[in-house]
Amino acid sequence: MECDASTIVSGFVEKVVSRYAESIDRDNVAPPEFFRDAAGHGVFGLPIPREYGGWGLPFSDFMDALRLIARESPSIAHIIFVHSMSAYFVEKFGSEEAREEILPGAARGERILALAFTEPGAGSDLASIETRAEKRGDTYVLEGEKLFTTNALYADTFIVLARTGPLEARHKALTLFALDKAEGVEVGEPLDLMGFRGTGLARVLLKGVEVPSSRVLGRENEGFKPAVVGLGVGRLPFASIALGIAEGALEEAVRWALERKSFGRPIFENQAVSFPLAEVAAEVEAVKALIRRTAELHDKGENILLHASIAKFLAARLAVKATRIAVQVMGGRGLLTASKVSRLYRDAKAAEIAEGTNEVQLMIIARDLAKRVR
Ligand SMILES: Cc1cc2nc3c(=O)[nH]c(=O)nc-3n(C[C@H](O)[C@H](O)[C@H](O)COP(=O)(O)OP(=O)(O)OC[C@H]3O[C@@H](n4cnc5c(N)ncnc54)[C@H](O)[C@@H]3O)c2cc1C
Repeated sequence: MECDASTIVSGFVEKVVSRYAESIDRDNVAPPEFFRDAAGHGVFGLPIPREYGGWGLPFSDFMDALRLIARESPSIAHIIFVHSMSAYFVEKFGSEEAREEILPGAARGERILALAFTEPGAGSDLASIETRAEKRGDTYVLEGEKLFTTNALYADTFIVLARTGPLEARHKALTLFALDKAEGVEVGEPLDLMGFRGTGLARVLLKGVEVPSSRVLGRENEGFKPAVVGLGVGRLPFASIALGIAEGALEEAVRWALERKSFGRPIFENQAVSFPLAEVAAEVEAVKALIRRTAELHDKGENILLHASIAKFLAARLAVKATRIAVQVMGGRGLLTASKVSRLYRDAKAAEIAEGTNEVQLMIIARDLAKRVR
């Protein structure tokens, strides 16, 4: 069946996202009905290749899909993004056996995926991961704790980065695994964050979890590079989510500013109100063009790591700016915790931290700057 991405996504946004956006944020959980309805629209298989039952969307179309979903619910966009990025790890680095086992269910939304890299002692510095995987015959036994795992509450399969050698070997002794929850993965209580609420964020405990060696993604001790490259490419879809936050806030604020009257005329007629909105609109267009161009380069097989970092940095910063201005334009209404712009404001702040902090993006950009001049 041909996939018209915009038809799938507009139907999903209208029928599902609009229905669950507020309650997922308020209750800090996405109910089973949400997963059933979302799976019914095929959104868990958007970028998964057709041979595994997905839609095989080009990266550029996937960017548009996430942006449109995030305009209404960054949390829902993030659930789908993390699931899809986890599937990307299986597709790129998994054995054929692992792909056949995991991807068709993932594409149908019957098997939700999560990515558990971060630990209490290892966030920006992934090479300091301490979770251990010890080889015993044809299996590995995993022991450790992961923190801030999106989708942890909902996931059936976890992509885990673990240490298969000494701590001093840093990034040279890390291996990627795909673990099934049924193998004994324990999930903690949902974390109560200010933003991206309801994304199933929790601690993940691995207490002697046994996994067959067919579930190693890539090679033993060579997991760091694929992990960093996968996360690096994933910064572009994450930038699309941040851009969606900015667009959603802008639209809400402009609508309000045209309707709301003070001193006998719509507040939009004051340049103090319309100019900051116009500035955001201009920056939204610039970041959208950057994301589109970078996605097209990825579709042509080019290395986009630098530009994905630039896009993530700019989009997250713009999301914070756009939502701050939107709350200001909406006055007291904007401050109501149930207002859409206050929800987007909280999500925007989280966007500067998740998927590599903005400082980490600047480190990557600065490293490239030095390389070009040296
Ligand atoms: C909503 C959300 C969802 C997430 N989902 C996942 C997930 O699904 N899977 C997963 O594995 N992780 C996930 N994370 C974790 C996320 O990747 C980490 O929070 C992030 O990498 C930062 O790590 P940290 O929180 O340990 O902060 P730290 O690394 O401790 O950093 C703290 C501060 O110090 C700054 N800093 C650190 N080192 C430097 C440096 N060298 N130079 C300048 N500044 C520096 C950082 O920028 C930051 O401001 C998620 C986080 C959030 C907020």
